[in-house]
Amino acid sequence: MDPSQIVSILRERMARVEQRIGDACRRAGRPRSDVAVVAVTKKLPLETTRLLPTLGFLQLGENRPQELWEKAASLPKSVGWHLIGHLQRNKIERTLPLVQCIHSVDSVRLLEAIEKEAAKRDRTVDVLLEVNASGEKSKQGFAVAEASDLVPLLDRLVHVRVRGLMTMAPFLADPEECRPVFTAVRKLRDKLRKRLSPGHEFGELSMGMTNDFEVAIEEGATLVRLGTVYFEGLGA
Ligand SMILES: *Cc1c(COP(=O)(O)O)cnc(C)c1O
Repeated sequence: MDPSQIVSILRERMARVEQRIGDACRRAGRPRSDVAVVAVTKKLPLETTRLLPTLGFLQLGENRPQELWEKAASLPKSVGWHLIGHLQRNKIERTLPLVQCIHSVDSVRLLEAIEKEAAKRDRTVDVLLEVNASGEKSKQGFAVAEASDLVPLLDRLVHVRVRGLMTMAPFLADPEECRPVFTAVRKLRDKLRKRLSPGHEFGELSMGMTNDFEVAIEEGATLVRLGTVYFEGLGA
C-alpha cells in the first residue's frame, strides 16, 4: 500500500473513532477533553508509524521496550511515548529517558527500581499501577486487594509519580461484560485516592482497547489504548 492510501485510511478511521469517543463521553456526561487516546503502534512498521505525528497522533504506545526504543529514536521529539507492556528491570535505564508514562508497573520491585533510576537522573517519571481486576492467571498486575497495601509506599516515592491505574479487561465477545472490571478499577482508584496524602494526583484510569473502549469511557477511562481500530490491515 502506498503512503497516500494509508493516510486516507487512517484519516477516515480517526474520524470514526473520534465520533465513537464523543458519543461515549456524551452518554457518560463527561467532557471529551477528559479522555486522551494513546495509539498503540506495536507491530506497525516503522515507515507507517512515521506517518502518524503529522496526522495528529501525538501519544503513542508500545508494549515492548525494544520496539519503543527503536521507534522513539526515529520519530520527532514531540511524540509522547507510553510503555504499556511489561518492563524488565534491566531495561529501565534505556526506557526512562524516552517515555512520558509507564502504564504497566506490576510489582513493588519494579516501582522501587524505577524510583532509584529516576533519582539517579534527578528527574521525575509518571507511572500507573497495572491492576489485574479480572483475576485471569495470564495477566500481569496487582490484585485489587493487594493494591490498597501500596498506599504508604506510594506516598514515600519522590521521583516516581504514581498517577493512577491501568487495567486490561478480558477479551469478550460482548464488551458490555467487561463493564464490571472497569467499574471495579474505577472504585479502586477512588479508594486509593482518598487514602493518599492531599495533593497526590491520582486521577488517571488507563483502560479500554479496540474491543471495549466505549464501555471503558462510560466507566471513567481517562486514557484509552487503541491499536487494531486504527491499524488493522496496515501491517500491525
Ligand atoms: C495491544 C495492546 C493494546 C491495543 O489493543 P487493540 O485491541 O489492538 O486496540 C492496548 N493495551 C495493551 C496493553 C496492549 O498490549
